[in-house]
Amino acid sequence: MASNQHAVSRLTAIQNTLKSPPGVNPGTTLPFPVENSTLPFWRTELHEIDNHQSTPELPAKCDVLIIGSGFTGASIAYHLLDDNPSPPSIVILEARSACSGATGRNGGHCKPDVYYKVPKYTRMYGREAAAEIALFEASQVYSIKELVEKENIECDFNITRAYDAVLDEELAKSCKKEFDQLVADKFPTIKDIGYLAGPAAVALTGVKAAKAAFSFTVGSLWPYKLVTQLLALVVKKGVNFQTHTPVTSVSDSPDADGYWTVFTHRGQIKTKKVVFATNGYTAGILPQYEERIIPVRGICSRITVPENCIAPSVPYSYSVRHNAKGADYQITRPDGSIIVGGGRPLYFHKTEEWYNVYDDSKLIEPAVPHFHGLMQRTFRGWENSEAKLDRIWTGIMGYTTDLMPHVGAVPSKPEQFICAGFNGHGMPSIYLSAKGVAKMIRTGCAFEEIGVPQPYKTTETRLKDTSNAILDTIQK
Ligand SMILES: Cc1cc2nc3c(=O)[nH]c(=O)nc-3n(C[C@H](O)[C@H](O)[C@H](O)COP(=O)(O)OP(=O)(O)OC[C@H]3O[C@@H](n4cnc5c(N)ncnc54)[C@H](O)[C@@H]3O)c2cc1C
Repeated sequence: MASNQHAVSRLTAIQNTLKSPPGVNPGTTLPFPVENSTLPFWRTELHEIDNHQSTPELPAKCDVLIIGSGFTGASIAYHLLDDNPSPPSIVILEARSACSGATGRNGGHCKPDVYYKVPKYTRMYGREAAAEIALFEASQVYSIKELVEKENIECDFNITRAYDAVLDEELAKSCKKEFDQLVADKFPTIKDIGYLAGPAAVALTGVKAAKAAFSFTVGSLWPYKLVTQLLALVVKKGVNFQTHTPVTSVSDSPDADGYWTVFTHRGQIKTKKVVFATNGYTAGILPQYEERIIPVRGICSRITVPENCIAPSVPYSYSVRHNAKGADYQITRPDGSIIVGGGRPLYFHKTEEWYNVYDDSKLIEPAVPHFHGLMQRTFRGWENSEAKLDRIWTGIMGYTTDLMPHVGAVPSKPEQFICAGFNGHGMPSIYLSAKGVAKMIRTGCAFEEIGVPQPYKTTETRLKDTSNAILDTIQK
């Protein structure tokens, strides 16, 4: 009864959220996916699974219930079923359409961090952990390539080089100093990284104001296409997938038979195991993560170039690091258009625009002018390109206060699992984290046996730690 009342009050909170009028700071309530989200380029070609509901009614029971249908939820379902002769019964519940969260609105960049944040992670977690994280991320470019090839997934997956062009003189100097330290230290990812200084950086990246540049191997893709094809694949293997079914709450404890009850406005489901693949929205239904996974709004765009215009090709992917407070990240699509996100220096100080904000129905207005004329301002030979802003959208990321994702068994909640909080950087971290969580579910093994970096392990200690490295970054 208490649980039902809990569910009703949660539902009211969600309904209020969904109706939030423009201008209301949504950061004042718990995060839930909102209606009328901005339309990203990636969702302009919808898969038939977009509004799928496998059955008219929700099933009464299942073995594993996954909440969220982004890259994380889809990957966990895939790994639970892959090469599994006795698969569990699985339900995936999604609040909105399939893959309508961050994965359907990101920059399409699978870009491991093989050097830039390594010194910071070394200071926070030690050299061994920093190396484990960098190698884990780097390996996922190839893991996703293998997946795409194995399952014949058409998602424009492309392996290329990233050029990180640094515009700020001071930042260029400090990056080079840290890079030299990694070289001296024979850091394991360093062998794939090239360094260019001054005029060579401009000549080879094409970025007019580059003071230095670093290059390494990355992937680019159409994330919505990858995930919706994964979802279609698992549905074909028997997963019951229900879009437009927001979870309002999960019972506080399992019943006498060990089943958790998951509440939705379409009814409830009993399940042996619950998986939270809810990223920035996690705290909405898992309150112990409220101060630890913070919804953060980001902005991204598509820039098109007229067919008859000849501008130099930008065949690589890019980060253009304006200063320590922000970079633009960019890929070139097979159709020649550019996907670029960022603009952070323009709104970083206005925390109400991004920090603890889960409303992706609005743009980050102070950033919008940045995307007009961006290619003309940034790249050599693009001045007369007539490249123009085609579409701009926002999405909600899950930032964590200690900068590490939360992966593994939810503390004090037996048979509940989390894989969330990817700090705006999930594409090179999610696939193998999800594989690890699936292994824990399939075999009952410990986090230490799944091959995921130790700092990702969700623990009571991390949940109790009140420091906030996201806010530290703002104050610097
Ligand atoms: C603008 C932008 C640009 C980005 N660019 C990049 C990039 O270029 N490279 C990169 O690596 N990362 C990027 N990211 C981050 C990346 O997109 C995320 O790390 C990743 O997509 C997270 O995947 P996920 O499946 O964990 O979460 P999501 O894709 O957000 O999926 C979570 C799902 O859970 C659903 N959900 C939440 N609560 C409930 C509930 N109560 N009931 C039911 N369903 C619920 C949501 O609707 C959502 O579909 C970007 C993010 C944004 C917003």
